[in-house]
Amino acid sequence: MVDVRGAHKMFGDLHVLRGVDLTVAPGEVCVVLGPSGSGKSTLLRCLNELEVLTGGSVRIDGELLGYREDSSGTLHRLHPAAIAQQRSRIGMVFQRFHLFPHMTALENVMEAQVQVLRRSKAAAKAKAVELLERVGLSDRMDHYPAQLSGGQQQRVAIARALAMDPEIMLFDEPTSALDPELVGEVLAVMKDLAAGGMTMVVVTHEIGFAREVADHVVFMDEGVVVEEGAPSSVIDAPAEERTRDFLSHVL
Ligand code: ATP
Ligand code: MG
Repeated sequence: MVDVRGAHKMFGDLHVLRGVDLTVAPGEVCVVLGPSGSGKSTLLRCLNELEVLTGGSVRIDGELLGYREDSSGTLHRLHPAAIAQQRSRIGMVFQRFHLFPHMTALENVMEAQVQVLRRSKAAAKAKAVELLERVGLSDRMDHYPAQLSGGQQQRVAIARALAMDPEIMLFDEPTSALDPELVGEVLAVMKDLAAGGMTMVVVTHEIGFAREVADHVVFMDEGVVVEEGAPSSVIDAPAEERTRDFLSHVL
């Protein structure tokens, strides 16, 4: 369960998140929609502790991200190692794949297992092989990123995130950098993951995916959640003018 309460984020004077509340239940797929600059990436980055909130809190299964709460309720910033430990439970996939260019697909999926989780090379390799098979890349394991299509690279990036056994997966426009004909193969992997019960927060403009896969759609604008609910309400019968206006541009 992801529980965001009163999240604020400032970059200097720029107030990007202006009191975001968001709950994502276990096994739920939450799709976040919204115009450019509305704070979607910032919200995901705060969920993954790539950014620190200016105010408010994020809890994952009740555990506060980034802080320890003492008996008097005072918050103490966690040490970097404890933050890294929390972060390893939250997988993230970006628009740009960020694979290590000098490593094969297999090595990319093994790397953090060995370096962060301290798995043996044999265990990491077995896990990487299993996951690359799962994302349909059993015949591409020894290829370098430059030898893979964008869709294949993104599937390696998904396998790499899954290799950490995350409790939650965050996706920030995972198909926006892909040629149109490669979008489907990445969405198919994400659908498979959703069907397997993974808790997911997905920023995407793929409305078809949202309709089909999302349990919960959130429409953000100017750092607030304007409207949220089932796809059948937010996408097909939006209550708010701003949501209608946005959808008229992406549908
Ligand atoms: P897009 O759809 O274009 O990806 P977004 O909804 O993901 O947009 P964010 O990337 O969260 O929007 O950005 C929200 C605002 O915060 C923008 O005005 C952006 O310029 C600003 N911003 C984001 N990151 C930083 C940063 N590290 N420093 C300063 N400003 C930032
Ligand atoms: Mg963004």
